[in-house]
Amino acid sequence: MHRVLVIGAGGVGNVVVHKCAQNPEVFGEILLASRTRARCDAIAKTVKELQGRDIATTAVDADDVASTVALIRDYQPELLINVALPYQDLHLMDACLETGLDYLDTANYEPRDVAKFEYKWQWAYRERFERAGIMALLGSGFDPGVTNVFCAYARDNLFDEIHTVDILDCNGGDHGHPFATNFNPEINIREITQNGRYWENGQWVEIPAMSQQMVFDFPGVGERKAYLLYHEELESLVEHIPGLRRIRFWMTFGEAYITHLRVLQNVGMTRIDPVEFNGQKIIPLEFLKALLPDPASLGTGYTGKTSIGCLIEGRKDGQSKRVFIYNICDHAETFKEVRAQAVSYTTGVPAVVGAEMMLRQIWKRSGVWNMEQFDAKPFLERLGPAGLPWQVADWPT
Ligand code: NDP
Repeated sequence: MHRVLVIGAGGVGNVVVHKCAQNPEVFGEILLASRTRARCDAIAKTVKELQGRDIATTAVDADDVASTVALIRDYQPELLINVALPYQDLHLMDACLETGLDYLDTANYEPRDVAKFEYKWQWAYRERFERAGIMALLGSGFDPGVTNVFCAYARDNLFDEIHTVDILDCNGGDHGHPFATNFNPEINIREITQNGRYWENGQWVEIPAMSQQMVFDFPGVGERKAYLLYHEELESLVEHIPGLRRIRFWMTFGEAYITHLRVLQNVGMTRIDPVEFNGQKIIPLEFLKALLPDPASLGTGYTGKTSIGCLIEGRKDGQSKRVFIYNICDHAETFKEVRAQAVSYTTGVPAVVGAEMMLRQIWKRSGVWNMEQFDAKPFLERLGPAGLPWQVADWPT
């Protein structure tokens, strides 16, 4: 039995604490801390109703390292699960260094004033984490996260050589709102509006945002149009899959979503630089976030499924081979189980499985690590029972 500190009481934080509560043999005591205590308390109430367990709650500003350090010293957890926003990553890693605590997150650090995600800031902590004898597991969500583990599984068990990887993310669900994002709107819109980028023949290729698309037949959903985006797991997978020739990331969007986004961009609502308004400075994207539905509230009445996987091509025993490794997740079922839509669920469950790997010392090494640097099998053995069953399908070339 272990004691964990979960930071961030949003859509993903809700799933994380429900799933930890379902597994008392590993997660003996749980403290949920976030900027707004009331959100932690509301989640604790549903955890009690649905899982029959009490969890502790408190308020913390994760950008204030001294406050987090004091909280850690007081609660004495064995692991910090960071499901606040990417802006908090470095502050929370600093607090872990100061207190000798292991760390896990689901999204890489982003500075507030530049929409750019890169691992360099967190990889720069490698030696300090090694020296302190503590571990950081980066990107233990679905993508990044499970997609990295699918690639590691293919690399170590299914292929002799991997030539190409296409990560395909489809949300085939309907939340009934004209426009909403499925995770934090600010982070989501920053991700989608930046240039597309993929890696081919040893170099990065940059293209205008949403300028390449393809139709893919997603298991459980059907044919959908997917757009090429840059996504953070590409950066680490390029380092950790030997012989890779090309890797790309694709995400589906409906026409209505794209039209809304285009209009919002055209009128300047997605800007992240401060503008003067009525004598005060506001950041348009932060203001837009305040108007949009809270992703944690989308679950009620959400129908349809997500279907996310890795299409991997290469050679095995002298033959060409292509497989799609994927999970399908149903919004209504996840809502019934933990009061969350499937995008939060597919992120929160892998965070809890990653935490279990660390607490049970199955994945345990000092330093800062990405998911594909560990043995995929024990993680995948737990992923299905934890709520995300996965399949490997031969995929015609
Ligand atoms: P939400 O916006 O719903 O929740 C974020 C939570 O963090 C809120 O409760 C917020 O508090 C809290 N928070 C923000 N700033 C601070 C702070 N300074 N101190 C303490 N708490 C803070 O986001 P999601 O739950 O949708 O997403 C959580 C994380 O998961 C994000 O980093 C996102 O990028 C990542 N993610 C990863 C995915 C993957 O597959 N790898 C997919 C989807 C999301 P408050 O309520 O007061 O605003």
